[in-house]
Amino acid sequence: MPSELDAALNSAIDRLTAPGGPLETARGERHGQAVPLIATAPPTLPALFARFCAEHGDKDFLVDGERRLTFAAAHAGARRLAGALVSAHGVKRGDRVGIAARNSANWVLAQMAVLMAGGCATLLNGWWVGEELAEGIALAGCKLVLADAPRAERLAGQPHPARLVVFGHENDGFDALLAGADENAALPELDGGDLATMLFTSGSTGKSKGACSDHLGVVQAVMNYAAQTLMVLTVKTEQGDPPVGQPCALVNVPLFHVTGEVPLYLQSFVIGRKLVMMAKWDPVEAMRLIEREKVTYFVGVPLMSMALAEHPRRHEFDLTSCVTFAAGGAPRPVDHVARIRAALPHGFPVLGYGLTETNAVGCGNFNENYLAKPGSTGPASRPLVEIAAFDEAGRRLPRGETGEIGIRSICNFVGYWNDPEATAAALTPEGFVRTGDLGYLDPDGYLFIVDRKKDLIIRGGENIASLEVEAALYAHPAVTEASVFGLPSRTYGEVPVAVWLARPGAAVTEEDLRAFLAEHLAAFKVPVWLWRETGALPRLGTEKVDKRALRERYLEGWDPDAV
Ligand code: AMP
Repeated sequence: MPSELDAALNSAIDRLTAPGGPLETARGERHGQAVPLIATAPPTLPALFARFCAEHGDKDFLVDGERRLTFAAAHAGARRLAGALVSAHGVKRGDRVGIAARNSANWVLAQMAVLMAGGCATLLNGWWVGEELAEGIALAGCKLVLADAPRAERLAGQPHPARLVVFGHENDGFDALLAGADENAALPELDGGDLATMLFTSGSTGKSKGACSDHLGVVQAVMNYAAQTLMVLTVKTEQGDPPVGQPCALVNVPLFHVTGEVPLYLQSFVIGRKLVMMAKWDPVEAMRLIEREKVTYFVGVPLMSMALAEHPRRHEFDLTSCVTFAAGGAPRPVDHVARIRAALPHGFPVLGYGLTETNAVGCGNFNENYLAKPGSTGPASRPLVEIAAFDEAGRRLPRGETGEIGIRSICNFVGYWNDPEATAAALTPEGFVRTGDLGYLDPDGYLFIVDRKKDLIIRGGENIASLEVEAALYAHPAVTEASVFGLPSRTYGEVPVAVWLARPGAAVTEEDLRAFLAEHLAAFKVPVWLWRETGALPRLGTEKVDKRALRERYLEGWDPDAV
């Protein structure tokens, strides 16, 4: 039975999206399929920036330490940078321009500027080591990369095709970019089909792939999130509990991942939300900022809201402004839901589900609904998303049956950069993104994810392809066999571990191997344990290592509190 809250939410979204409503829908097309779109949305991200920065003009938008920028100031700043990108750096429509930096107000200005200049904002993972950054830049074919000093240093001596312009995170951080430029240079006219963003996903096939989205897809994803927010606000207001003051969110997840980029940052233009920057996750700093800036919305990977709920210093801070503790990017343990609600009773836990390839759009489970079904990611997010489970043969399954989850909407990516084969493999003939997640829909249309089909480890929201780590191990001359898999961790959800065999007579220690991996892989990908085996690894008939058997073996006696 749909809950009372479901009925109210559905009624609200029906009204918002009806003909003449603020989010009126029409038909669009994605991957050859007719799908709904929000007809009132701006056509491109620069149009979205212009419309909403004018609407929210003098309100605070970006808070970064002691620095504050209004929506109007951010737009004006980005406009100058866009002029410089076009006039002094030769950026043309469709050029991939990399951004390699930690979170800051200037990261946001850089991304806005790249988009306004007609470039494809190529969001490089800030945790990557130099080799990984260079590979991402080469894969995307970036002609220009805007990097902060630490990432530029990591890139020193690495071969890649881009010109590097270094920027700082202070007021005058863009002096190098602006030098000799015509800040008023004309900017190109774009349409919804222009390439907007490339984000990197480790998927399950080893090396990173560049997931590309057009302006139409990203804007619609932003608007679908705004529709969900408006839906909840409408119901709250009708229940006599309207929101007060400007909404405000903490930016404690990386902006280069889709959760940080779409629902958190880009949605904020539409709903006039203030963003408070964190360079790096730190629960005490998060609580200090929630109190100081009166943060109303908190989103993180599941471990983050739990870290606040259980923090020994929690009572030193006034967190009562924060009414939402959202999570996404990884499964949230069911018992966290009630524990967060009990520890932070002024707020509700909320859960989102989506992928890089869907621009974070998928499902949402809100407030009382989430407390009632804490094991569910919620129903497909209206008005744009369709969710279905598919069997091995690609047939749609009825509700209740478990299969691979597919997500279809106008918000889906257009494809992987220069990789039509991987793109075709990621989509069903009906244009659903194959998620690699296994789950079922209950009679109310609520999605329950039960397992993962893809060989992926999610460590605190950061995806790791086992194959990539195995390849890095095999690159060591002393390693003859290696298998990488995830084991449960109370703190991170999952952590990567490795089992390896040394070449006979090779004098190699675990420390040698760890140092070798750290040179080639970002720290989050390096296995927390490197177990050396002496006998052959268990194999399946196909000669593939039997990872399930291996994992079972190591799970025995494993302590999830150990890491
Ligand atoms: P990414 O493309 O890096 O955002 O990773 C997407 C993957 O993260 C999904 O395919 C899921 O395996 C996982 N994921 C994201 N959100 C959730 C959630 N709420 N519950 C379970 N798994 C999730």
